[in-house]
Amino acid sequence: MADTLVLAPDRAGLAAAARLLAAGGLVAFPTETVYGLGADARNDRAVAAVFAAKGRPRFNPLIVHVADAAAAVALAVFPAAAGRLAAAFWPGPLTLVLPLRPGAGLSGLVTAGLPTVALRVPAHPVAQGLLAAFGGPVAAPSANPSGRISPTRAAHVLAGLGGRIAAVIDGGPCAVGLESTILAVEADRVTLLRPGGLPAEAIAAVLGHPPAAASPAAADAGAPARPQAPGQLASHYAPAARLRLDAAAPRPGEAWIGFGPGPAGPNLSPAGELAEAAANLFQLLREADDAAGPDGCIAVAPVPDKGLGRAINDRLRRAAAPRP
Ligand code: AMP
Ligand code: MG
Repeated sequence: MADTLVLAPDRAGLAAAARLLAAGGLVAFPTETVYGLGADARNDRAVAAVFAAKGRPRFNPLIVHVADAAAAVALAVFPAAAGRLAAAFWPGPLTLVLPLRPGAGLSGLVTAGLPTVALRVPAHPVAQGLLAAFGGPVAAPSANPSGRISPTRAAHVLAGLGGRIAAVIDGGPCAVGLESTILAVEADRVTLLRPGGLPAEAIAAVLGHPPAAASPAAADAGAPARPQAPGQLASHYAPAARLRLDAAAPRPGEAWIGFGPGPAGPNLSPAGELAEAAANLFQLLREADDAAGPDGCIAVAPVPDKGLGRAINDRLRRAAAPRP
C-alpha cells in the first residue's frame, strides 16, 4: 500500500477521513482512551482488512464506535442496567457488550459470529467529528499490531501500522491513555471483562454494587479458543523487552519506570497521581523498551491497586506475562 496519509483534525481532514472510510479504507483516529483503527462496521471487506492490518486473530471481536446512545440502541438490545450505565458514562471510556439486535446490519466479522456486540460512544471531539462526518458505525480496535502496546499518539500508529492503513488523523496525545473498561450486560447481570479507563469504583457507584468478575477460566491457560476480551489473553500489550514488576529500583542494565517519589529517571507520575500515570503508561513503556533493547529488562515501580491503578496493573501484568 502507498504511504499512510497524516490528516489534520480539522473539517477538511475529517471529511477526507470519512470519504476513505466510506470507500472501505482504514483510518486511525484519536479517542480519549487510545488511537483506534477505524473501518465501516457494515463492510465485510473493510473489517477483514482491519484484522489483516493488525494481524489480529479473527475470533477476537471488535468494538463498534457510534455517535450517541440512540445510534447504539439501533444496534443492540439494552437491559435496564445497560441504560443506566450508558446514561452515566457515555460519551466516555466505557464499552458495553450487549445482545446484538437482529437486522442491525453489522458485518459478522465485527462480532466474530457472537450473538453480542461491543459498543462505545467516544468522548474525544475528533472521534465525535469523524462519526458525524461518516454517519455510520465504525469498528475500531486499538491501532497497533495485535498483542503489542496500544498507541496513544499518531506517531505510535505510524510506527506500528504505517504503510498498511490509508490514513491517521493526528489529534495529539490521548488524555486517558488506557483502553476502555469493558462490561458485559446480560439481563441484570453486569460482568467486568476488562478493567480500563473508567474505574470499577465509578461503575459500582451507579450500579449500587461492584460488577461481577469475569471467569478467569481459560485466561491463563494459554490461548483460549474465544477470549471474551483481550484482557483475558495472558500476554498482551507487550513490549519486546521483559518486565520486572514491583521493583524498588532498577538493577544495573535495566531500564526504569518509576511511580511517585523514588529513584531518578522516567516516572509515570512523580506526584503519584493515577490519572497522570495512566496517560503516560504506554509512551513510557515504548521509551523504556527502546532503552532496554529486545533482550533487555524494564523494571517498574509498584502502582497502587485502586481506581485507574487496577487497569494500569492489569496492563503491566499482561505486558510482563510469558509470550506465546
Ligand atoms: P481492542 O479494540 O483491541 O481494545 O479490543 C476490544 C476488545 O473488545 C476485543 O478484544 C474483544 O475481546 C472485546 N469484545 C468485542 N466484542 C465483544 C463481544 N461481542 N463480546 C465480548 N467481548 C467483545
Ligand atoms: Mg487492542
